[in-house]
Amino acid sequence: MNKIINTIMGSNNFIITSHYSPDGDNLGSSIGLYYALKSMKKEALFVLDDNLPANLDFLYKDIKIYKSEEINTEDYVLISLDCGDKDRLCCSDTIKSEASLTINIDHHTSNDLYADLNYVDDKASSTCEVVYEMLMKIDKNIIDKKIANCLYTGLITDTGNFMYSNTNPSSFEMACELLKKGIDKQDIIQSIYQNNPLNYVKILGESLNTLNVVKDKIATIELTTQMFKNNNITFNDVDGFVNYARDINGVEVGILFKQKKSNQIKISLRSKSYVNVSEIAKVFGGGGHVRASGCTINDSLENAKKTLIEEVIKHI
Ligand code: 5GP
Ligand code: MN
Repeated sequence: MNKIINTIMGSNNFIITSHYSPDGDNLGSSIGLYYALKSMKKEALFVLDDNLPANLDFLYKDIKIYKSEEINTEDYVLISLDCGDKDRLCCSDTIKSEASLTINIDHHTSNDLYADLNYVDDKASSTCEVVYEMLMKIDKNIIDKKIANCLYTGLITDTGNFMYSNTNPSSFEMACELLKKGIDKQDIIQSIYQNNPLNYVKILGESLNTLNVVKDKIATIELTTQMFKNNNITFNDVDGFVNYARDINGVEVGILFKQKKSNQIKISLRSKSYVNVSEIAKVFGGGGHVRASGCTINDSLENAKKTLIEEVIKHI
């Protein structure tokens, strides 16, 4: 952490990036750090080559998020946040390879320490909590209301509103300090959770109709390309569906199969108390956390379901 802080203090030019399928922690930590670098009078660009979830627009509506092809910066430090491996970084290979130095700040247990400088705390609730800790070391006064807004978002989305086992005493301490910066926590909650388009609820209904329970302990639901099309909902706008599968009485592992293309299935895995779903995701080249992880299987929906469920059965 100190080496990273010294590098940040001694450099002027930064590109920030994060993982595909942006979520609250990814955007909260990236945009929070972006604002902090700006207030330290440094040059910073945030690059992310993916669609952004509409319910998080309150975080990104005031900044420009660049696509890789718009970048021609030279001599920059690349800071990647909330991303466990280089392949999942959502920017071009050129941006990854031409950085003068790379920094990896994360909390994924599956992080493979791919950068020149790595700070990975897999006990931290969120990457926002790691960024908070770092900013507090740099300057206790640097976190203003705007930055607090970003960091609070990642904290609540990754802890499920302080519900999951990754919620530590330090998470509450951080929440307390951020609230003192004047953020409106009800505004944030409403934007993220109480702001769903009607079609979000309709596609949720269709997805729940595919519910399948295996051996009483595994529950699966699906989202097909057809459902996305019928309901005019984009792939990155359906966060949270997998929780309905996990939260069934007696179920340990909840799985969502999201069909991105006919032969490309993005899988979300959640567990309740004892299965390490990060280990399951790793079998298929993915990763994540003990209780929340993901991977992609390039096969038909039926084959992906069969292969994944066979693996999960070994863990229950
Ligand atoms: P989600 O199911 O919400 O997409 O992701 C759950 C967690 O697993 C997140 O922390 C996410 O970063 C991680 N994750 C999801 N998909 C992948 C993947 O394909 N590879 C890796 N390494 N991590 C993933
Ligand atoms: Mn995270």
